[in-house]
Amino acid sequence: MKYRPGRHFLQLPGPSNVPERVLQAMSRATIDHRGREFPALTGRVLEGLRSIFRTSGRVLVYPASGSGGWEAALSNVLSPRERVLMFETGVFALGWVDTARRFGLDVTVVPGDWRRGADPAGLEELLTEDREHRIRAVAVVHNETSTGAVTRIAGIRQAIDNARHPALLMVDAISSLGSIDYRHDEWRVDVTIAASQKGLMLPPGLAFHAVSGRALEASARATLPRAYFDWARMAVANDDGFFPYTPATNLLFGLREALAMLEEEGFDNVLRRHARLAEATRQAVRAWKLETQCVCAEEHSNVLTAVVMPEGHDGDRFRALVDQRFNMSLGAGLGKLKGRIFRIGHVGDFNELMLAGTLAGVEMGLALSAVPFRRGGVDTALRWLVANE
Ligand code: PLP
Repeated sequence: MKYRPGRHFLQLPGPSNVPERVLQAMSRATIDHRGREFPALTGRVLEGLRSIFRTSGRVLVYPASGSGGWEAALSNVLSPRERVLMFETGVFALGWVDTARRFGLDVTVVPGDWRRGADPAGLEELLTEDREHRIRAVAVVHNETSTGAVTRIAGIRQAIDNARHPALLMVDAISSLGSIDYRHDEWRVDVTIAASQKGLMLPPGLAFHAVSGRALEASARATLPRAYFDWARMAVANDDGFFPYTPATNLLFGLREALAMLEEEGFDNVLRRHARLAEATRQAVRAWKLETQCVCAEEHSNVLTAVVMPEGHDGDRFRALVDQRFNMSLGAGLGKLKGRIFRIGHVGDFNELMLAGTLAGVEMGLALSAVPFRRGGVDTALRWLVANE
């Protein structure tokens, strides 16, 4: 492939753009993972992650992608044939359902239209009906990356409490941690799963868990097979500053740097920045007279915006044109949304001028594709940013 001048715009909802500081931090000699230097690294990243998850409990790091985190979560707290309640919010929710079924769990899926988050009222009803408390766990995706719709976890917690149900609450925060407000302890989540390649600004390769005391108790009794992902083995090693097997040392160097960057910016400022850039993106989409996939005003994602392609226009062809002409990668429509939407990622190491370039590429791409739309989305977004410091 011939050289394409200028910087590539990686505007996926993960992997996100990896900042220079993180790249530099990773490009040093790997150290002995059983040596004297290692415990300081382990301690630093676990402490930093605790503050991002907003938990004082145990946090674990695996060399895995987010899907490994799903598997690890299920296998640590559940036993074969136990009942799990899950919600069809989009492709990733269904991916987790598939993982649970492969482990022989009895999964009930609440159907959804892929245009909103999981419904707390429906959950409360289902849990209230479950008088014998057969449902062991409720598992939801916080930010459904395939649709750009967020499930309000505080509402899910409230529904479980209202129903006085003892189910464990498991949350996939893989594409939201570090970018959308998330409160593991306050919402009494039992297992939260996250990954490195989104809001944490790292390359793919690390999965994270935050786990509650209840989840740890459940794991002592749970009988699904687990080895590599066993919390108990990991916890014993971590308490001494090490890992039970070879960790992804250079990704941990990167993680240490990324956590320092989030702290320097101020984590609340990081969340505010994501909210602001996401709102500006939605202003542009509205001005283009296009529709977002998410139809619920309170559930729009601050990580990505999924835009519906007008009838007769293919999202993948549009993305290919934007890539060829402007050296920018946009997210594809996944599963049943293939070709029907495109997704604009605005997550991680991202600022106003990067957003301006991203939206300009989309607007020029729409014009070149002869998609019916109204011009002026970029201008609307820029005006909104100036008016809303
Ligand atoms: N869950 C969500 C919400 C995701 O966005 C993704 C990936 O984008 C996954 C799970 C799967 O993670 P991975 O591709 O890192 O295995």
